Amino acid sequence: MAERAYFDWNATAPLRAEARAAMAAAWGLTGNASSVHTEGRAARRLVEEARASVAALVGAEAKGVTFTSGATEANMLALTPALEIGGRKEPRDRLFVSSIEHPSVRGGGRFPASSVEQLPVTGDGLVDLAELEPRLLRAERPLVSVMLANNETGVIQPIAEIAAIVHAAHGILHVDAVQGAGRIDCSIDELGADLLSVSSHKLGGPQGAGALVRRGDIHIVEVLIKGGGQERGLRAGTENVAAIAGFGAAAVAANAARQADAVRMTALRDKFEAGLKAATPQAVIFGAGAPRLPNTTLFAIPGMKAETAIIALDLNGIAVSSGSACSSGKVQASSVLAAMGVETELTRGAVRVSLGWSTSEADVECLLKAWINVISSLLKKHAYAA
Ligand code: PMP
Repeated sequence: MAERAYFDWNATAPLRAEARAAMAAAWGLTGNASSVHTEGRAARRLVEEARASVAALVGAEAKGVTFTSGATEANMLALTPALEIGGRKEPRDRLFVSSIEHPSVRGGGRFPASSVEQLPVTGDGLVDLAELEPRLLRAERPLVSVMLANNETGVIQPIAEIAAIVHAAHGILHVDAVQGAGRIDCSIDELGADLLSVSSHKLGGPQGAGALVRRGDIHIVEVLIKGGGQERGLRAGTENVAAIAGFGAAAVAANAARQADAVRMTALRDKFEAGLKAATPQAVIFGAGAPRLPNTTLFAIPGMKAETAIIALDLNGIAVSSGSACSSGKVQASSVLAAMGVETELTRGAVRVSLGWSTSEADVECLLKAWINVISSLLKKHAYAA
């Protein structure tokens, strides 16, 4: 295959060398992490080392980390009415989720649909703080779920401010930190989050691993998967030791490189946005007025369909994605942009460029060259009205 440049890091990141090595080493072992013999204890050691590494990524205690099959499952585990604080039953009577959450949160987890309410966002994709407090009054003991950074726009929520409002309303705050972890500071204490979800494959670990991190004395009563009692009884099933070890190694590497990577990614993202604007001044960049991740640009050209741009860029060696998650492979209008009040026609054109630690200046130059190519050929075919 001809050389390609990958700009879909928010969908999944390449496997880090550290994660690959940790997984290869784990695959060389035979033990079940629950077995008491030497082989079992060697597997257990890898799981517990990884637990400490994931905890360190978010400044939490290792005992608060529950490994899952990914963040979808971590979100499912977190979003339950059956919570305890300090051994006291503290059932949640209502779940509030922002209207731009990942589908695994917007679906309401293990709450009945009638107890789930969506929180509005502003035109820039930030949770409307003026609306938050009055809405929380509708519940006695709310559980609130707001993501750290949006997977489509990259917009970063003011989680610490949200946490203060939630806690004043006797609420518990869950934060889906999937897109922020390893890219921006994600300390659970500084964020004020009580529960926090992370995913391995967004930070250079393997797909199919994730974790729910609990702060302090919050306890989940309702088990997610019943069985042999693994993960302190919360999530049964023999641990995927290699995936967990890879996740841990990726967490260490991402944490160590985070600040330097953020500076580099911001410069590359800014270079791309400047080039995009120079080539297509009509481009609309979503969430541009809000704080954003250093690696994400979501944009649209009025009149241009996302599929057209994505396929044309793909033929030019560039992998980008549409704004919306498209599990079926079909591009759907983005519900995130709809929640931000963007008109439907423009949402259909949303293209997401997301980069990462190994993206180079040359990659961005390839992307801009391809973009100019695509735009001029589309203009020639008058496929869209600028
Ligand atoms: N939350 C967000 C914000 C995401 O971007 C994703 C992945 N697209 C998930 C949750 C789900 O993560 P996983 O793929 O590990 O299930």
